[in-house]
Amino acid sequence: MAEQIGPDGKTCAQRHAEWAAEEARFEASFAARQAADYHTRCRDCGVFVKKSRWVKKDTYNAIQHQQRPLCGPCFDEYDFIY
Ligand SMILES: [Zn+2]
Repeated sequence: MAEQIGPDGKTCAQRHAEWAAEEARFEASFAARQAADYHTRCRDCGVFVKKSRWVKKDTYNAIQHQQRPLCGPCFDEYDFIY
């Protein structure tokens, strides 16, 4: 099967690879986060979430508003952003 080439001259696979690399860079920027300082589990289903979704325990929102992480699937259940 022939690959579809988009207007930008890239195949879907190439675009996906670039997106995945961007995602990896984004996630790597949170590598220094320590689990002890963060809420690391989805507040709805309890799954361990990616570091980029962690919520720092000593922030105002975490203390006053009980802000907690949400995993992707649970986040998609909501129509609005907290
Ligand atoms: Zn969840």
